Amino acid sequence: MPNNRTFTMIKPDAFEDGNTGAILAAIEKAGFKLVSAKLTKLTKKQAGDFYAAHAQRPFYEDLCKYMSSGPILAAILEKQNAVEEFRNLIGATDPKNAAEGTIRKRFAKSIEANAIHGSDSDSAALTEGNFFFSSLEQF
Ligand code: UDP
Ligand code: MG
Repeated sequence: MPNNRTFTMIKPDAFEDGNTGAILAAIEKAGFKLVSAKLTKLTKKQAGDFYAAHAQRPFYEDLCKYMSSGPILAAILEKQNAVEEFRNLIGATDPKNAAEGTIRKRFAKSIEANAIHGSDSDSAALTEGNFFFSSLEQF
């Protein structure tokens, strides 16, 4: 499986705060190229399907509400070793633990409203990209 692509969403809090452009600039500055991008809004059901792996976690219900509360920007990104490099760029899930200069340190509000998603494996990147984009939209 190729390891040069990952999937991201700029989450509702960052979109609402007007940080979409600044976050995309940080992503491009770090050497990622946009492969596909889409502004959209998830239904609660779609958010639940996307985060199905977390269905048993105590935060799942709130997460689904939050992720369907406003627009998101979904994108597929390309760079060598994309998944790992992108997780480093966004920082820890909880912004309190995120390293200085990371996107979550700069823009996240809380462990839930943490500005951005990044796939955690190559297989997740593929599944998550396919969740939002048809093959015609991925070139
Ligand atoms: N989340 C939350 N509470 C938690 C852990 C996670 O609300 O205690 C939310 C947060 O928005 C996170 C998402 O659920 O980004 C998915 O959790 P995961 O553990 O996969 O974190 P990530 O991979 O996004 O860093
Ligand atoms: Mg995750």
